[in-house]
Amino acid sequence: MPLRRVEAPPCLHFRPAFRLPARSFSPHVSYFMMKDRARLPIPPPRTIPMNVSFVCPRCDQAARTEVSASDTSLVCPSCDQSVAIPENAFDEDRLRRCIVCPSTDLFVRKDFPQRLGVAIVALGIVGSSIAWAYTYTIATFAILFATALIDVVLYLFVPNALMCYRCGAMYRMVAGMDQHGTFDLETHERYRQQAARMAGHSQ
Ligand SMILES: [Zn+2]
Ligand SMILES: [Zn+2]
Repeated sequence: MPLRRVEAPPCLHFRPAFRLPARSFSPHVSYFMMKDRARLPIPPPRTIPMNVSFVCPRCDQAARTEVSASDTSLVCPSCDQSVAIPENAFDEDRLRRCIVCPSTDLFVRKDFPQRLGVAIVALGIVGSSIAWAYTYTIATFAILFATALIDVVLYLFVPNALMCYRCGAMYRMVAGMDQHGTFDLETHERYRQQAARMAGHSQ
């Protein structure tokens, strides 16, 4: 008996393809868009140059200049004095020591003027005290809450910077901040006393 060709039942997964409307918000569209995007060349990462704020050892002017791990010297924009960068200051692009003085004691801090932070807190205390004196209870707590919120938001969004205990140089956009600790009063005191002794000797 000859075998009869039997049509296989259509597979449930084999649905006829249907066209998606061009501007549909279906997840398929975003998938294809992603596939297209994958074919585009990847733009190079935006590099923000590292910069350093320091007090020039020659002219005592505050200076801010860009620096990269491949630089061999730092030039003061005011007097053109060049300070040689120690060879082992960078580990690849991670900063290991201050390039101005060149101490290895650096600490991580928020790149934010401390006075402004103190002013916000003081404003909260003064404002809420005034509101309290006039028995505006809601306003009192609203002012305290608002100033605390501003502090939290600033803390979250203000980037970190590295600061040198010895010479006060400040490094922004620098890699390797995580290998340095936060402010330590003992280390600060050690450098402060050292600076005082140096000043005493030079007189
Ligand atoms: Zn200078
Ligand atoms: Zn330094």
